[in-house]
Amino acid sequence: MPATLASDLARYLDDNDRRFHDELFDFLRIPSVSARSEYDADMQRAAKWVSDNLRTAGLDTEILSTPGHPVVLGEWRKAPAGALTVLIYGHYDVQPAEPLELWTSPPFEPAMRNGRIYARGSVDDKGQLFAHMKALEAHLGARGRLPVNIIVLAEGEEEVGSDNLEAFVTKHAKRLACDYIVISDSSMFAPGLPSILSSLRGLAYFQIDLEGPAGDLHSGSYGGAVVNPAMALARILATFFDANGHIAIPGFYDKVREWDPKIRAQIKALPFDEANFKKEVGVSVLGGEAGYSTLERLWSRPTCEVNGLLSGYTAEGSKTVLPSKAMAKVSCRLVADQNPAEIERLVREHITRVAPAGVKVTIQMLHGGQPWSAELQGPLYDAAKRALNAAFGRDPVVIGEGGSIPVVSDFQRLLGAPVLLVGFGLPGENAHAPDEWFADENFTKGMRAMASLWDEIAAGARA
Ligand SMILES: [Zn+2]
Repeated sequence: MPATLASDLARYLDDNDRRFHDELFDFLRIPSVSARSEYDADMQRAAKWVSDNLRTAGLDTEILSTPGHPVVLGEWRKAPAGALTVLIYGHYDVQPAEPLELWTSPPFEPAMRNGRIYARGSVDDKGQLFAHMKALEAHLGARGRLPVNIIVLAEGEEEVGSDNLEAFVTKHAKRLACDYIVISDSSMFAPGLPSILSSLRGLAYFQIDLEGPAGDLHSGSYGGAVVNPAMALARILATFFDANGHIAIPGFYDKVREWDPKIRAQIKALPFDEANFKKEVGVSVLGGEAGYSTLERLWSRPTCEVNGLLSGYTAEGSKTVLPSKAMAKVSCRLVADQNPAEIERLVREHITRVAPAGVKVTIQMLHGGQPWSAELQGPLYDAAKRALNAAFGRDPVVIGEGGSIPVVSDFQRLLGAPVLLVGFGLPGENAHAPDEWFADENFTKGMRAMASLWDEIAAGARA
């Protein structure tokens, strides 16, 4: 069903389009590189810029310090009694711009070329955060009010791991209490295809150490009579999979939630170019779990991958050695509703069962992260669908993401509110790389979609 953006908001966004671009360019000129202390003053400047801009739009603002870079909070809480409260999360820090010589125009001198805004942070995430800020301004400028209460949380440490965010959200949980969380820090599947990101994979990362003989042995004098840790490790790793690419660790799939057949059909219909994907990664044949397409393998299925192997003699020439040790780093990407602690238990039990006698095996879990998946029904999802339709003239597609964005499950867990991930980047946008760009069309449509979202959320709550 086609939706439209209210005409007063559309007019406000049109009338101020030039100024919005000028402001965005000002924002992008601040080199807010969180990773380098030489930019600390610029980080402060960027936080103040966000705060000032939100205040001019009509929000109350505060810059709160953390042990690292500050968090900017913008609040507008004058919606009618019973109205919903929505928290918008974004980040004002950017990745370092180096290597500078690979940029066509300087990273902190934004330039418009071929309908793209080129600058470090244009798409990740200043441009997307700013689109939200202007959507809020449109409501307050055109009507003097918003139909929902709003909290804007802009952090300055996303690109360095958001180390202080969990503690910040925990400390301010009462103030940040909300019904929904909206994050725009991701991409659309293709131009013209508004996308709702529905899943993120979690992680369980292991180091497996095997010890055999007390020291490296002569492979002639001892080989054949002593268990070789490198071979023992290879045997263990080989038991992780069966011939169809299924993970053969007992119980591994028990908690995996199968995707709705409707969503699977929709993913199948996405314009995915497998030949191009092969070219991109430089292989002639793809592999993976039988019975699933490439996108499903990336988005909806767990993995178990060897990330590193170390054993024996690896330098030039031959050295006849039976190594005393072998080590592997193994990462499992998890999907809902798998749990890193439970996967750790299953991996330990499995390795203990299959490890050959004659080696001592030590397993450490180095890192764990929860998978996340969105509720693809209900009022928030319906409102997002209508808002994206109003801006892009078509319903959104549902996409997944093979990697992790840890803050998403943190927010959902700490604030107990569902998260909507709706991003306006595009494939090839060079986030974190030279010549980062944000499609100007998506900047404009992103502002419209988010302006529409607040009306649609309020309408959904009244219905
Ligand atoms: Zn980002």
